[in-house]
Amino acid sequence: MKIGFIGLGNMGNPMARNLIQSGHELVVYDIVQAARDKLTAMGAKAASSAKHLASEVELVITMLPSAPQVKEVCLAPDGIFAGLEKGVRIVDSSTIDPFTARELSAAAANQGNPMLDAPVSGGTGGAEAGTLTFMVGGQEEDYRAVKPILSCMGKNIVHCGPSGNGQVAKVCNNLVLAITMLGVCEGLTLGVALNMDPKVLTNIFNTSSARCWSSDTYNPYPGVMENVPAARGYTRGFASALMLKDLGLAMESARLSKQPVFLGALAQQLYQMMVRQGNGQKDFSGI
Ligand code: NAD
Repeated sequence: MKIGFIGLGNMGNPMARNLIQSGHELVVYDIVQAARDKLTAMGAKAASSAKHLASEVELVITMLPSAPQVKEVCLAPDGIFAGLEKGVRIVDSSTIDPFTARELSAAAANQGNPMLDAPVSGGTGGAEAGTLTFMVGGQEEDYRAVKPILSCMGKNIVHCGPSGNGQVAKVCNNLVLAITMLGVCEGLTLGVALNMDPKVLTNIFNTSSARCWSSDTYNPYPGVMENVPAARGYTRGFASALMLKDLGLAMESARLSKQPVFLGALAQQLYQMMVRQGNGQKDFSGI
Protein backbone atom coordinates (compact mmCIF):
# COMPACT_ATOMS: atom_id res chain seq x y z
CA MET A 1 0.00 0.00 0.00
CA LYS A 2 1.13 3.60 -0.53
CA ILE A 3 1.13 5.12 2.96
CA GLY A 4 1.80 8.70 4.14
CA PHE A 5 3.50 9.05 7.56
CA ILE A 6 3.67 12.42 9.37
CA GLY A 7 5.69 12.90 12.60
CA LEU A 8 8.98 11.00 12.47
CA GLY A 9 10.22 11.38 16.05
CA ASN A 10 11.09 8.84 18.75
CA MET A 11 8.00 6.76 17.98
CA GLY A 12 7.21 7.70 14.37
CA ASN A 13 10.68 6.85 13.06
CA PRO A 14 10.70 3.16 14.10
CA MET A 15 6.99 2.79 13.23
CA ALA A 16 7.57 4.11 9.69
CA ARG A 17 10.64 1.91 9.39
CA ASN A 18 8.59 -1.19 10.24
CA LEU A 19 6.10 -0.28 7.49
CA ILE A 20 8.91 -0.04 4.93
CA GLN A 21 10.31 -3.36 6.13
CA SER A 22 6.87 -4.93 5.65
CA GLY A 23 7.01 -3.94 1.98
CA HIS A 24 4.86 -0.79 1.96
CA GLU A 25 5.68 2.28 -0.09
CA LEU A 26 6.12 5.29 2.21
CA VAL A 27 5.76 9.03 1.68
CA VAL A 28 6.94 10.93 4.79
CA TYR A 29 6.72 14.42 6.24
CA ASP A 30 8.10 16.12 9.37
CA ILE A 31 8.93 19.78 10.03
CA VAL A 32 12.46 18.66 10.92
CA GLN A 33 14.58 17.99 7.82
CA ALA A 34 16.90 15.55 9.64
CA ALA A 35 13.89 13.42 10.63
CA ARG A 36 12.81 13.21 6.98
CA ASP A 37 16.37 12.38 5.83
CA LYS A 38 16.58 9.34 8.13
CA LEU A 39 13.56 7.82 6.37
CA THR A 40 14.48 8.77 2.80
CA ALA A 41 17.80 7.01 3.42
CA MET A 42 15.70 3.87 3.90
CA GLY A 43 13.77 4.28 0.65
CA ALA A 44 10.86 6.55 1.65
CA LYS A 45 9.91 9.54 -0.48
CA ALA A 46 9.76 12.95 1.29
CA ALA A 47 6.80 15.28 0.70
CA SER A 48 7.07 19.08 0.80
CA SER A 49 3.96 19.51 3.01
CA ALA A 50 1.23 17.50 4.72
CA LYS A 51 -1.13 18.49 1.87
CA HIS A 52 1.33 17.28 -0.76
CA LEU A 53 1.75 13.99 1.14
CA ALA A 54 -2.01 13.48 1.51
CA SER A 55 -2.61 13.96 -2.22
CA GLU A 56 -0.29 11.06 -3.08
CA VAL A 57 -1.29 8.22 -0.76
CA GLU A 58 -3.99 5.63 0.02
CA LEU A 59 -3.73 6.02 3.84
CA VAL A 60 -2.30 8.73 6.15
CA ILE A 61 -0.82 7.99 9.61
CA THR A 62 0.15 10.77 12.06
CA MET A 63 2.38 10.47 15.16
CA LEU A 64 2.67 14.01 16.56
CA PRO A 65 3.37 15.39 20.07
CA SER A 66 -0.09 16.66 21.12
CA ALA A 67 -3.50 18.03 20.07
CA PRO A 68 -2.42 21.50 18.77
CA GLN A 69 0.04 19.91 16.29
CA VAL A 70 -2.52 17.29 15.18
CA LYS A 71 -5.11 20.04 14.57
CA GLU A 72 -2.64 22.16 12.66
CA VAL A 73 -1.40 19.30 10.50
CA CYS A 74 -5.00 18.31 9.68
CA LEU A 75 -6.68 21.68 9.23
CA ALA A 76 -4.05 24.18 7.97
CA PRO A 77 -4.36 25.36 4.34
CA ASP A 78 -1.35 23.17 3.48
CA GLY A 79 -2.57 20.39 5.80
CA ILE A 80 -3.83 16.83 5.30
CA PHE A 81 -7.53 17.61 4.81
CA ALA A 82 -6.74 20.01 1.95
CA GLY A 83 -4.92 17.31 -0.01
CA LEU A 84 -7.02 14.18 0.51
CA GLU A 85 -9.05 12.45 -2.14
CA LYS A 86 -12.46 11.24 -0.97
CA GLY A 87 -12.39 7.88 0.81
CA VAL A 88 -8.73 7.99 1.90
CA ARG A 89 -8.49 7.06 5.61
CA ILE A 90 -6.48 8.87 8.32
CA VAL A 91 -5.13 7.16 11.46
CA ASP A 92 -3.90 9.43 14.26
CA SER A 93 -1.64 7.54 16.67
CA SER A 94 -0.64 10.58 18.77
CA THR A 95 -1.88 10.68 22.38
CA ILE A 96 -4.43 13.52 22.50
CA ASP A 97 -7.74 14.20 24.29
CA PRO A 98 -10.83 12.28 23.11
CA PHE A 99 -12.76 15.52 22.41
CA THR A 100 -10.26 16.79 19.83
CA ALA A 101 -10.11 13.30 18.31
CA ARG A 102 -13.92 13.26 17.88
CA GLU A 103 -13.98 16.82 16.53
CA LEU A 104 -11.35 16.04 13.87
CA SER A 105 -13.00 12.75 12.96
CA ALA A 106 -16.34 14.53 12.41
CA ALA A 107 -14.66 17.18 10.22
CA ALA A 108 -12.91 14.46 8.19
CA ALA A 109 -16.16 12.47 7.80
CA ASN A 110 -17.84 15.65 6.47
CA GLN A 111 -15.51 15.64 3.51
CA GLY A 112 -15.78 11.88 2.99
CA ASN A 113 -12.62 10.71 4.79
CA PRO A 114 -12.88 8.24 7.71
CA MET A 115 -10.50 9.21 10.56
CA LEU A 116 -9.58 6.82 13.37
CA ASP A 117 -7.81 7.54 16.66
CA ALA A 118 -5.25 4.81 17.41
CA PRO A 119 -2.92 5.83 20.28
CA VAL A 120 -0.32 3.27 21.32
CA SER A 121 1.34 1.84 24.38
CA GLY A 122 4.62 -0.02 24.52
CA GLY A 123 7.06 2.89 24.35
CA THR A 124 10.01 3.28 21.99
CA GLY A 125 11.08 -0.34 22.68
CA GLY A 126 7.69 -1.58 21.48
CA ALA A 127 7.86 0.72 18.44
CA GLU A 128 11.30 -0.67 17.49
CA ALA A 129 10.23 -4.27 17.98
CA GLY A 130 6.86 -3.81 16.23
CA THR A 131 5.00 -5.00 19.33
CA LEU A 132 2.92 -1.92 20.17
CA THR A 133 -0.66 -2.10 21.43
CA PHE A 134 -3.01 0.06 19.33
CA MET A 135 -6.23 1.29 20.98
CA VAL A 136 -8.50 2.10 18.07
CA GLY A 137 -11.58 4.34 18.03
CA GLY A 138 -13.79 4.55 14.94
CA GLN A 139 -16.21 2.57 12.79
CA GLU A 140 -15.82 -1.21 12.74
CA GLU A 141 -15.34 -1.38 8.94
CA ASP A 142 -12.57 1.25 9.04
CA TYR A 143 -10.91 -0.59 11.94
CA ARG A 144 -10.98 -3.79 9.89
CA ALA A 145 -9.53 -2.00 6.86
CA VAL A 146 -6.51 -0.55 8.73
CA LYS A 147 -5.83 -3.50 11.06
CA PRO A 148 -3.41 -5.28 8.65
CA ILE A 149 -1.36 -2.08 8.36
CA LEU A 150 -1.29 -1.46 12.12
CA SER A 151 -0.25 -5.11 12.56
CA CYS A 152 3.06 -4.25 10.81
CA MET A 153 3.82 -1.98 13.81
CA GLY A 154 2.02 -3.68 16.68
CA LYS A 155 0.99 -6.98 18.21
CA ASN A 156 -2.35 -6.10 19.84
CA ILE A 157 -4.76 -4.08 17.72
CA VAL A 158 -7.89 -3.50 19.80
CA HIS A 159 -11.13 -1.89 18.65
CA CYS A 160 -12.30 0.23 21.61
CA GLY A 161 -15.57 1.51 20.12
CA PRO A 162 -16.59 4.65 18.20
CA SER A 163 -14.40 7.66 17.46
CA GLY A 164 -12.43 8.97 20.47
CA ASN A 165 -12.63 5.71 22.42
CA GLY A 166 -9.04 4.78 21.59
CA GLN A 167 -7.97 7.98 23.34
CA VAL A 168 -10.37 7.25 26.22
CA ALA A 169 -8.65 3.87 26.72
CA LYS A 170 -5.17 5.42 26.59
CA VAL A 171 -6.01 8.31 28.96
CA CYS A 172 -7.72 6.00 31.52
CA ASN A 173 -4.87 3.46 31.37
CA ASN A 174 -2.25 6.09 32.13
CA LEU A 175 -4.41 7.64 34.88
CA VAL A 176 -4.52 4.26 36.64
CA LEU A 177 -0.80 3.73 36.00
CA ALA A 178 0.12 7.04 37.70
CA ILE A 179 -2.06 6.23 40.70
CA THR A 180 -0.77 2.67 41.16
CA MET A 181 2.83 3.88 40.83
CA LEU A 182 2.25 6.46 43.58
CA GLY A 183 0.65 3.81 45.79
CA VAL A 184 3.56 1.39 45.38
CA CYS A 185 6.07 4.21 46.09
CA GLU A 186 4.22 5.24 49.23
CA GLY A 187 3.83 1.69 50.53
CA LEU A 188 7.47 0.74 49.94
CA THR A 189 8.77 3.98 51.47
CA LEU A 190 6.63 3.43 54.58
CA GLY A 191 7.87 -0.14 54.86
CA VAL A 192 11.52 0.94 54.63
CA ALA A 193 10.94 3.66 57.25
CA LEU A 194 9.64 0.89 59.52
CA ASN A 195 12.81 -1.17 58.94
CA MET A 196 11.46 -3.55 56.31
CA ASP A 197 13.63 -4.79 53.42
CA PRO A 198 12.05 -3.35 50.20
CA LYS A 199 12.78 -6.60 48.31
CA VAL A 200 10.96 -8.73 50.87
CA LEU A 201 8.09 -6.26 50.97
CA THR A 202 7.89 -6.26 47.16
CA ASN A 203 7.72 -10.07 47.16
CA ILE A 204 4.82 -9.86 49.60
CA PHE A 205 3.04 -7.28 47.40
CA ASN A 206 3.58 -9.46 44.32
CA THR A 207 1.97 -12.51 45.88
CA SER A 208 -0.72 -10.53 47.72
CA SER A 209 -3.47 -8.05 46.98
CA ALA A 210 -1.07 -5.11 46.34
CA ARG A 211 0.27 -6.83 43.20
CA CYS A 212 0.28 -4.59 40.10
CA TRP A 213 2.52 -3.71 37.10
CA SER A 214 4.15 -0.87 39.05
CA SER A 215 5.26 -3.40 41.68
CA ASP A 216 6.01 -6.61 39.76
CA THR A 217 7.31 -5.30 36.40
CA TYR A 218 8.50 -1.72 36.88
CA ASN A 219 9.35 -1.57 40.58
CA PRO A 220 10.29 1.99 41.63
CA TYR A 221 12.55 1.16 44.61
CA PRO A 222 16.29 1.11 43.71
CA GLY A 223 17.85 -2.31 44.19
CA VAL A 224 14.64 -4.33 44.07
CA MET A 225 14.68 -5.18 40.31
CA GLU A 226 17.26 -5.13 37.53
CA ASN A 227 16.64 -3.59 34.09
CA VAL A 228 14.14 -1.00 35.26
CA PRO A 229 14.67 2.80 35.41
CA ALA A 230 15.00 2.63 39.24
CA ALA A 231 18.15 0.50 38.69
CA ARG A 232 19.80 3.22 36.56
CA GLY A 233 18.97 6.51 38.27
CA TYR A 234 15.50 6.76 36.66
CA THR A 235 16.93 7.23 33.16
CA ARG A 236 15.70 5.74 29.83
CA GLY A 237 12.05 5.24 30.68
CA PHE A 238 8.76 7.10 30.43
CA ALA A 239 9.55 10.76 31.19
CA SER A 240 7.60 12.26 34.10
CA ALA A 241 6.90 15.28 31.81
CA LEU A 242 5.03 12.93 29.43
CA MET A 243 3.13 11.37 32.33
CA LEU A 244 2.19 14.91 33.41
CA LYS A 245 0.93 15.60 29.86
CA ASP A 246 -1.23 12.46 29.94
CA LEU A 247 -2.61 13.32 33.41
CA GLY A 248 -3.49 16.76 31.99
CA LEU A 249 -5.50 15.02 29.25
CA ALA A 250 -7.28 12.94 31.90
CA MET A 251 -8.06 16.03 34.00
CA GLU A 252 -9.33 18.00 31.00
CA SER A 253 -11.49 15.06 29.89
CA ALA A 254 -12.84 14.80 33.44
CA ARG A 255 -13.60 18.53 33.53
CA LEU A 256 -15.48 18.41 30.22
CA SER A 257 -17.49 15.35 31.27
CA LYS A 258 -18.02 16.70 34.84
CA GLN A 259 -16.56 13.53 36.32
CA PRO A 260 -14.75 13.72 39.69
CA VAL A 261 -11.26 12.19 39.63
CA PHE A 262 -9.82 12.81 43.09
CA LEU A 263 -6.79 10.54 42.95
CA GLY A 264 -5.98 11.63 39.39
CA ALA A 265 -5.99 15.27 40.48
CA LEU A 266 -3.57 14.50 43.31
CA ALA A 267 -1.36 12.46 40.97
CA GLN A 268 -1.29 15.40 38.55
CA GLN A 269 -0.15 17.76 41.33
CA LEU A 270 2.58 15.34 42.44
CA TYR A 271 3.93 14.98 38.88
CA GLN A 272 3.68 18.75 38.45
CA MET A 273 5.92 19.07 41.52
CA MET A 274 8.40 16.51 40.14
CA VAL A 275 8.64 18.36 36.80
CA ARG A 276 8.84 21.75 38.58
CA GLN A 277 11.80 20.45 40.60
CA GLY A 278 13.71 19.90 37.35
CA ASN A 279 13.07 16.16 37.01
CA GLY A 280 10.79 16.21 33.96
CA GLN A 281 13.13 14.02 31.93
CA LYS A 282 13.48 11.42 34.70
CA ASP A 283 11.36 8.30 34.57
CA PHE A 284 7.93 8.61 36.22
CA SER A 285 8.77 5.86 38.77
CA GLY A 286 11.23 8.38 40.28
CA ILE A 287 8.30 10.10 41.98
P1 NAD B 1 8.62 13.22 19.36
O1 NAD B 1 8.60 14.62 19.86
O2 NAD B 1 9.88 12.44 19.43
O3 NAD B 1 8.14 13.20 17.80
C1 NAD B 1 7.17 14.07 17.27
C2 NAD B 1 7.58 14.42 15.84
O4 NAD B 1 6.58 15.26 15.27
C3 NAD B 1 8.90 15.22 15.76
O5 NAD B 1 9.78 14.63 14.82
C4 NAD B 1 8.45 16.62 15.31
O6 NAD B 1 9.41 17.28 14.51
C5 NAD B 1 7.20 16.28 14.51
N1 NAD B 1 6.29 17.43 14.38
C6 NAD B 1 5.90 18.30 15.34
N2 NAD B 1 5.05 19.22 14.83
C7 NAD B 1 4.92 18.90 13.51
C8 NAD B 1 4.18 19.50 12.44
N3 NAD B 1 3.43 20.58 12.63
N4 NAD B 1 4.28 18.93 11.21
C9 NAD B 1 5.05 17.83 11.01
N5 NAD B 1 5.78 17.24 11.99
C10 NAD B 1 5.71 17.78 13.22
O7 NAD B 1 7.42 12.47 20.13
P2 NAD B 1 7.23 10.88 20.32
O8 NAD B 1 7.93 10.42 21.54
O9 NAD B 1 7.48 10.23 19.00
O10 NAD B 1 5.66 10.83 20.67
C11 NAD B 1 4.66 11.02 19.70
C12 NAD B 1 3.30 10.75 20.36
O11 NAD B 1 3.26 9.41 20.86
C13 NAD B 1 2.98 11.66 21.55
O12 NAD B 1 1.62 12.00 21.53
C14 NAD B 1 3.32 10.78 22.77
O13 NAD B 1 2.58 11.14 23.93
C15 NAD B 1 2.91 9.42 22.25
N6 NAD B 1 3.59 8.28 22.90
C16 NAD B 1 4.94 8.32 23.15
C17 NAD B 1 5.56 7.24 23.76
C18 NAD B 1 7.04 7.27 24.08
O14 NAD B 1 7.50 6.41 24.84
N7 NAD B 1 7.81 8.20 23.51
C19 NAD B 1 4.81 6.10 24.11
C20 NAD B 1 3.45 6.06 23.79
C21 NAD B 1 2.84 7.16 23.19
